[in-house]
Amino acid sequence: MSRTRVAVVGGGIIGTAVARQLTRSLDHAEVSLFEKEDRLAAHQTGHNSGVVHAGLYYEPGSLKAKLCTRGGQLIRQFAQQHHVPYDECGKIVVALDEPQSKRLEALHARSVANGVPGVRIIGPDEIGEIEPHSRGVRALHSPRTAIVDYVALTNALADEFRGAGGAIWLKHAATRIEEGDRAVRLSVGDRTEEFDLVITCAGLQSDRVARAAGEQADPRIVPFVGDYFLLAPAKTHLVRGLIYPVPDPRYPFLGIHATRRIDGAVMLGPNVFLSMGREAYEPWQPNLRDLRDAVGFAGFWRFASRNLPAALRESRTALSSRSFVSEVRKYVPDIRAADVDRGPRGIRAQAMDARGRLVDEFAISGTDRVVHVRNAPSPGATSAMAIAEHIVTAALTRAGIGPSTGRTGESRQSP
Ligand SMILES: Cc1cc2nc3c(=O)[nH]c(=O)nc-3n(C[C@H](O)[C@H](O)[C@H](O)COP(=O)(O)OP(=O)(O)OC[C@H]3O[C@@H](n4cnc5c(N)ncnc54)[C@H](O)[C@@H]3O)c2cc1C
Repeated sequence: MSRTRVAVVGGGIIGTAVARQLTRSLDHAEVSLFEKEDRLAAHQTGHNSGVVHAGLYYEPGSLKAKLCTRGGQLIRQFAQQHHVPYDECGKIVVALDEPQSKRLEALHARSVANGVPGVRIIGPDEIGEIEPHSRGVRALHSPRTAIVDYVALTNALADEFRGAGGAIWLKHAATRIEEGDRAVRLSVGDRTEEFDLVITCAGLQSDRVARAAGEQADPRIVPFVGDYFLLAPAKTHLVRGLIYPVPDPRYPFLGIHATRRIDGAVMLGPNVFLSMGREAYEPWQPNLRDLRDAVGFAGFWRFASRNLPAALRESRTALSSRSFVSEVRKYVPDIRAADVDRGPRGIRAQAMDARGRLVDEFAISGTDRVVHVRNAPSPGATSAMAIAEHIVTAALTRAGIGPSTGRTGESRQSP
């Protein structure tokens, strides 16, 4: 009997978790993971805030809410078992005035509906006990929100995948996917091979990879860049854990926050602005193809016209470190512009539909033999291992490939 052959495209945390999940679910399969860069986690997974979200923000019952909660539990369990640096440092979402305080109550109700453990509203005294340098009229405290090293986590998932017989092909970009009656032909570099199932998790390139398989163009990926600043080592005591503003419902992203990293550094950010390229980490090296795709997309202009005030506000923080820091000083007033240096930047793969609406939910599409993760924005890293369980179970059923008994998921663990 010939072995089942499965390919995964994209070696970020989601593709790596999917590849590992396949080896847990199939006993005699040959699973290959193709990544175009020379290392795993080279893009979003290696350029994010490092937060293991607890599920405060997401619509109860949504895929995001379910997979974030389950994904957080799986990370905790996996990190403990595999000695991946992980710290439940806790998070506060700080309200500065009465209108924000009202929105905090709605966030609290949503967190409770999502089963976030230990979440509660606290007053100024308790804010001071948890984060002595933060100020606010009230805050939402989530004691179990955590931080992790997502690159180390991805590499540990990859080690387990390799240990189970999986193969990782770095510097192998998938260029074409053709579904036939009995197999899927995948072209990677100058090789074309046949697989029983192909799952693509291509992050910032997810729409292009899906199109290479004959899928429709929309939703498109519009790349949004976010800059971080780093607090000077002598000032990291100003932030113990994670300090976030109350998200403004008029704007699509969470706002500039202060996050402690697993290595002890404190990052401020990210702001949000249209990126000059999907992988353009240097500010003055635009990618013309990416720019052309973004500005040639009618949805982008519809989005831009609706979000002009936010764009103007964010452009201030993009151009001036003083403006950037003044956003953080609203809830950590002791941080000064002189205390920060420019840090890393990250580029978010955000799917947008033709009407210019951001796709909020995780989006997975495809056929019985080719599955595409088309939108996995934050909390995509938190949710990765749960997204993997979800996709692999559904894909194997649809493709008629039987999972082996017993190892389809990790043990369930109460939060
Ligand atoms: C600034 C920022 C902050 C964030 N903060 C958080 C956070 O704190 N917590 C959280 O849970 N989430 C956060 N996120 C979201 C999170 O990082 C993403 O949801 C997650 O990393 C997505 O993983 P991925 O594997 O889909 O994408 P990526 O990590 O982008 O991986 C996709 C991979 O596919 C590869 N690829 C693309 N095309 C091809 C091809 N043709 N052939 C082969 N390989 C290909 C790429 O090279 C890349 O390695 C943040 C994101 C950003 C950008």
